Amino acid sequence: AAITMADLEKVQVLGHGNGGTVYKVRHKRTSAIYALKVMHSDSEPNTRRQIFQEINILRRTDSPYVVKCHGVFDLPAGDMAILMEYMDRGTLESLMKSGVVFGEETIAKIAHQVVQGLEHIHARKITHRDLKPSNLLVDGKMRVKIADFGVSKIMCRTLDPCNSYVGTCAYMSPERFDPDTYGKDGTYNGYAGDIWSLGLTLLELFMGHFPYLPEGQRPDWATLMCAICFGEPPCLPATVSGEFRGFIECCLQKDSSKRWTASQLLSHPFLKNFRGC
Ligand code: ADP
Ligand code: MG
Repeated sequence: AAITMADLEKVQVLGHGNGGTVYKVRHKRTSAIYALKVMHSDSEPNTRRQIFQEINILRRTDSPYVVKCHGVFDLPAGDMAILMEYMDRGTLESLMKSGVVFGEETIAKIAHQVVQGLEHIHARKITHRDLKPSNLLVDGKMRVKIADFGVSKIMCRTLDPCNSYVGTCAYMSPERFDPDTYGKDGTYNGYAGDIWSLGLTLLELFMGHFPYLPEGQRPDWATLMCAICFGEPPCLPATVSGEFRGFIECCLQKDSSKRWTASQLLSHPFLKNFRGC
């Protein structure tokens, strides 16, 4: 039988975000644990649109590398909730901030999973647009899944540059700030934007801090935007393997048309050499 809100009891708050709260909940009869994302429709004018978009996207996806949706609830006062599988180690951001050090092999395992998740959503014409450590969930077996499709987009026939100013600025690719760097055909390739964010995310996990900023420094928006658009992309120290450096370079090409696609990255030696570890 389908799960209803009455079957669930709140255990604790897992996280807060734009217009919503994520709870750890327990199914009273079976004791199964889930995550419940409750979104308040009155908090912001576009929140309702985001809720429907996220639900829509979760329904279109079915991959071990994308968080699973077990149901959607209509709540009083127009609020809505999404019941998801619970990921018991939280996010890659919280792991990093708790001092976990990610070595090359772990990064390769993470990358392999996220790239497969991206290949899955990109094949369904979905761009995530907010890929970053706090939107990647982890479980006890270091399985990694893409979550938080709140600002994601289902691409239409034409790749439109409009309405692209969403997501966390820090992880946005150069072409999202600067229309002159859109692909050579003048269109904005949203898929390539996700690949940029992936490169930056992996680099951050390895370095332990956001690559464009010295450790502990708070981002200053204007300086950061200049660095992303006019500076050289961040890169790894010479001490890491050539495969790892090469992989990050394939993701952090400033020219979006030179960036590898998710499918291409799957055959990159960095992922192939670590496969099966
Ligand atoms: P927001 O749009 O508010 O960022 P997210 O979907 O990213 O929404 O969820 C916010 C936080 O809640 C996450 O960063 C994470 O800490 C926690 N969270 C979300 N979904 C889950 C889940 N399925 N399992 C465990 N924790 C989760
Ligand atoms: Mg989030």
